[in-house]
Amino acid sequence: ATRSSAELIRAEAPVLAHNYHPLPVVVARAEGVWVEDVEGRRYLDMLAGYSALNFGHRHPALIEAAHRQLDQVTLTSRAFHHDRLAGFAEELAALTGLDMVLPMNTGAEAVESGIKVARKWAYDVKGVAPDQATIVVAADNFHGRTTTLVSFSTDPTARAGYGPYTPGFRVVPYNDLAALEAAVDETTAAVLIEPIQGEAGVVIPDDGYLTGVRELTRRAGCLFIADEIQSGLGRTGRTLAVEHESVVPDVLLLGKALGGGIVPVSAVVARREVLEVLHPGEHGSTFGGNPLAAAVGSAVIGLLSTGEFQRRAAELGEVLRTGLDGLVGKGVTGFRARGLWAGADVDPALGTGREISERLLREGVLVKDTHGSTIRLAPPLTITEDELSASIDALGRVLND
Ligand code: PLP
Repeated sequence: ATRSSAELIRAEAPVLAHNYHPLPVVVARAEGVWVEDVEGRRYLDMLAGYSALNFGHRHPALIEAAHRQLDQVTLTSRAFHHDRLAGFAEELAALTGLDMVLPMNTGAEAVESGIKVARKWAYDVKGVAPDQATIVVAADNFHGRTTTLVSFSTDPTARAGYGPYTPGFRVVPYNDLAALEAAVDETTAAVLIEPIQGEAGVVIPDDGYLTGVRELTRRAGCLFIADEIQSGLGRTGRTLAVEHESVVPDVLLLGKALGGGIVPVSAVVARREVLEVLHPGEHGSTFGGNPLAAAVGSAVIGLLSTGEFQRRAAELGEVLRTGLDGLVGKGVTGFRARGLWAGADVDPALGTGREISERLLREGVLVKDTHGSTIRLAPPLTITEDELSASIDALGRVLND
């Protein structure tokens, strides 16, 4: 017998680790910006898998690419070549303006791989003394959940209880070039930052910050690693968030939407001089760059190559901004937005972010709170203006009724 939503939610507790606290909705089907629960209720997905679903659920071009590849070959490992990998890497290099690709699977793996590459570059190319390389990161970062990545997290919930921690990281305040300058020295392999801090609540640095990081790292002779796992691939109204300042990092980390919401696909994309430090056997992944991932990744790059999604994100971003502007003083105390991506701070007197999210769920809109009283809005870039307006109206209703 099929189980109800309530039964399925109850069934999870004894058998699943409690490392998440999902909203009480059980999705059974999805298409585009809409998901449907077990009972057939429909919801507008304003989270889009933390930007893994930038093209919506089951975009026809992506599903078709996946289906086609499922009928050819799905996995070879990198022990052998396969016929989809060269094309995927060429397309990704062309999309980003960089030279070489290291394909991985999850975001955290891409960041870990970027850190390994930067350290190796520091020893092999820059000439840092053995085991002395440092990487400068920003406070309130989110780069993933591995032991090394939580070692330099400043969020106690993410970090506490997982020591001993990986050394070699220096944490400076985000959006503070003077602090960054003071932290960088001859041991510095790289500066690793998010061009917009997503999990921190869509925190956008001042104009000039990314340019400053680019100039500073070039002057200091260290790498600029931009983690665009959440900000990249159309979300902000450009292919990459660094394009808002016309900056090209040395190393770009991509993930989430690169897999089209179908398979985990991530990548380290970099200048040749950087990725060339890797030789056979020095790094790898069984699934990294597999044929299915490469086929879906190529289809994702195909969607982005027309610029249509970036344009939609920029245009509809104005609708989102105007809508949130209208709620300031009416339950919203402030917000930050770029493209189809916003963090809206709700008046704590009206409820926690969690409570507001639960009320929005009852209105048929899915969002996720972050840091207590921030609501994060990141709909699929395929959303219509009417759907976007309806979801902002729903937010207004739950804050004011
Ligand atoms: N980097 C950034 C900027 C992210 O937002 C995330 C996920 O939210 C990650 C890395 C980690 O990605 P994953 O969850 O695929 O490991």
